[in-house]
Amino acid sequence: MKFAALGLSEKVLEGVRAAGYTEPTPIQLRAIPLVLSGKDVIGSAQTGTGKTAAFALPILSRLGHHNPVGPRVLILEPTRELAAQVETAFRDYARFLDLKITVVFGGVGYGKQNDELRAGADIVVATPGRLLDHLEQGTLKLDKVEFLVLDEADRMLDMGFLPDVRRLVEKCPRKRHSALFSATIPPQIETLIQWAMHDPETIEIGARRTPAETVKHVIYPVSDTQKTDLLLELLNRVNYDSVIIFCRTKHGADRAATLLKRANHAVAVLHSNRTQKEREQALAGFREGKYEVLVATDIAARGLDIADVSHVINYDVPQHPEDYIHRIGRTGRAENTGDAFTIMVAEDAPHVFAIERFISQKIPRVKLENFDYRYTALFEEPKAGAPAGFPGKVRGGRVHGGYHFAPGGRRR
Ligand code: AMP
Repeated sequence: MKFAALGLSEKVLEGVRAAGYTEPTPIQLRAIPLVLSGKDVIGSAQTGTGKTAAFALPILSRLGHHNPVGPRVLILEPTRELAAQVETAFRDYARFLDLKITVVFGGVGYGKQNDELRAGADIVVATPGRLLDHLEQGTLKLDKVEFLVLDEADRMLDMGFLPDVRRLVEKCPRKRHSALFSATIPPQIETLIQWAMHDPETIEIGARRTPAETVKHVIYPVSDTQKTDLLLELLNRVNYDSVIIFCRTKHGADRAATLLKRANHAVAVLHSNRTQKEREQALAGFREGKYEVLVATDIAARGLDIADVSHVINYDVPQHPEDYIHRIGRTGRAENTGDAFTIMVAEDAPHVFAIERFISQKIPRVKLENFDYRYTALFEEPKAGAPAGFPGKVRGGRVHGGYHFAPGGRRR
């Protein structure tokens, strides 16, 4: 099935061709006709599935020409990076249309945003807090909104944005089309759906709990005193093109970055304590290859379209099982295969078990050959009936004392 058969407008099809897309992805195949027909849509799909185009293309097709009455499309995003990324995607797809697109987020001045909103934007991509400021200051009204998109709704919930989201939804006309994207649908999101959406159709692409099949993922157990040594050694041995290292906290990310810089790695850092400018520079530098290593927290990296990452290293085990899927989804995109390594210390065991339950998969434990390991209880074979943590045998590898020695994580 080609894009041309989906009912998109000619100008949007030209934009799609210019973006270099030939075939619609599964979520695009299902969502585009629904949004075009005016249905409310709930989409659950992993990042990297093409969900932005799944809502952007049909919305652009239905908008027609620029109209200065005020925004007719409102897209809410949990982070500034995501908002900027979605705005760029819209501009890309809309390059043969005369529509005006604006992005609104905090951490930067109001001047440019005020000017663009006053000039009459057709599409506003925004984070909730700053958008509320604009509403209160009267720079913007939402009474002409025809399409409302709540993107990454579960992340907005995690970040405490749902009350702001509700206030914003209340400012939009009742008669509108809505779409909501969320990796998981916890009860609070279910309530939001019932309140904000009209007879929605749900699209679930793939099993959302399954890591991409192209990703090879393993766990490196280690004593907590050797965590940083293991990280440095992994980076030395792995033949990576670009690697994202995930840390639990902003301070942890800063510490890891300092350590890596000292070891002469070209490192960028992405977390929410950094200024907008710093974050943009970090992302741009990483995309251009100026930095080979990006150290990030979950919130900063969620959903970001960072292509071509050869490796993901979880320096800290994620606290929420779904974050594991998001993190390792940065690699193994499209046709590339990727490697995802998780460093595990004893206190991480409950989180690792939760992840394994969530993905219904055992993640192989491996050791780095000739690394001077100190003892940790994690190296013990599990007793019969103990919570399963260790694999039996790993196919295609050497097994030493129940352990598979990793070949070094080269790209396969
Ligand atoms: P998203 O899931 O929206 O973040 O998209 C992930 C990546 O897939 C982005 O780099 C898009 O440009 C790309 N993409 C989206 N749709 C297609 C398509 N139909 N064919 C090829 N690439 C696509």
